[in-house]
Amino acid sequence: MVVLGSTGSIGINTLEIAKKFNIAVEVLACGSNIKLLNEQIQTHKPKVVVIANKEDMKDVNHNNVYAGQENLLSIIADAKSSLVVNAYVGFLGLRPTLVAIESGKRVALANKESLVACGAFIDTSKIQPIDSEHFGLWYLLQERPIEKMIITASGGAFRDWDLKKLQNATLADTQKHPNWSMGQKITIDSATMVNKMFELLEARWLFGEGSYDAIIETKSLIHAMIDFKDGSTTAHFANASMQLPIAYALDAKMDEKILNNVNLLKVGSLEFREIKTDRYPVWEIREELLKNPIAGIVINAANEVAIEKFINKEIGFMEISSMILKAHNTFTTMPKNVDDVFALDEEIRKCLSN
Ligand code: NDP
Ligand code: MG
Repeated sequence: MVVLGSTGSIGINTLEIAKKFNIAVEVLACGSNIKLLNEQIQTHKPKVVVIANKEDMKDVNHNNVYAGQENLLSIIADAKSSLVVNAYVGFLGLRPTLVAIESGKRVALANKESLVACGAFIDTSKIQPIDSEHFGLWYLLQERPIEKMIITASGGAFRDWDLKKLQNATLADTQKHPNWSMGQKITIDSATMVNKMFELLEARWLFGEGSYDAIIETKSLIHAMIDFKDGSTTAHFANASMQLPIAYALDAKMDEKILNNVNLLKVGSLEFREIKTDRYPVWEIREELLKNPIAGIVINAANEVAIEKFINKEIGFMEISSMILKAHNTFTTMPKNVDDVFALDEEIRKCLSN
C-alpha cells in the first residue's frame, strides 16, 4: 500500500497494523520528520519515499527519494498498490485523495478535510474512512429503517473549563485531550468541536442524506449509535484506539484480537452531555451545514487560517470559532466543481489571512 502522512499519529498506527498483518508498503510519504521516516524505511523497506522539502532529501536513507507535491501526485498515480492510506492533516490532503481515486485506487481516508471540503465531488464508494465514529456507524448498520445516526464527542480539552477562561486558553492547554492521543490540529479541532462538525459532514457524504447528530460521551468508549425507527438504539463500544478502524480500512483479515473488549464492570458508569453553543459556538451552524454540506469548504478553510493565527498567538482561542462563523456568513457562493473548491479555498485563505 501507499502510506501518506506516515510519521503522524494515524500513520504510525497504520504501520503498526501493516506489520502485524504483513502488508507490504510500496510508498512512504511524510512531511519533515526525517528521523522517524528513516526508522520506518528500515522496518518497512518501501520502494519509494516522498517528503515535503527538497532540503531534507540528503538526510533520508533511501535511494529513491522525491520531494514536493507534484512528485507526490505522480507517484500516487503510478503506484502499483491498490490501496492508499491518506493520513495527511488538513486541506493539503485533498489532491492526493482525488488523484488516488482517479487512478483507480481505494482510499483508506483519515484525512477528513478531503471530504469536508470536497465531499460533493468525491466518489465515496472508493473510500473507507479511518475515523472511529464512522467506523462505529458502519459497524452498526443493518437492513432496518433508521431514524437517526448519532456520533459521540469527548468534549475535548475544555469540556470542564470555566467558560470565562476559554478566551485565554493556550495552545498547550488545547493539547490536554482527556481520552485520545492525536496530532496537534485535530486536538485543537476537538477543543472547538470543529472536529465533530467535520465528522457530521463526513458522515453525511459517506452515508447519504438522513438525520445526523452528536452528543458528548465523556469516556470515549461509545463512538456511534443508531436510533432505528422501531425504537431500538444500538451503540458501538470499543476502547479508544484507532487501530481497530485502521485494521478494517486496510482490509486485514480480522481473525485476531486488535483491542481488548471494553470491560463494562470496570467502567462502572457513563456520562452523556449535550453539546452547548456557549462552550462550542460553531455548533450554532450545525443544522444549516447539514442542510448545505457543501459549505464545509468554507468552514475548513477558515478553520485552518484561524488555527494558524491561534498558534502564532495573533488571536485567542474563542476567536477560532468566531472567524469560522463570520466566514460562514461571508462566503455564500458554493463551488460547482473541484476547480471551484480549490479557487474558493484560496480566496478564503487570502481574505482571512490579512
Ligand atoms: P499528525 O499531525 O499526527 O500527522 C500529520 C502527518 O501529515 C504527518 O506525517 C506529517 O509529516 C504530515 N504533514 C503535515 N504537513 C505536511 C506537509 N506540508 N507536507 C507533507 N506532509 C505533511 O496528524 P494525525 O495523524 O493526528 O491526523 C491525520 C489526519 O487524520 C487528520 O486529518 C485528522 O483529522 C485525521 N484523524 C486523526 C485521528 C487520530 O487519532 N490522530 C483520528 C481520526 C481522524 P511530518 O510530521 O513528518 O512533518
Ligand atoms: Mg473521530
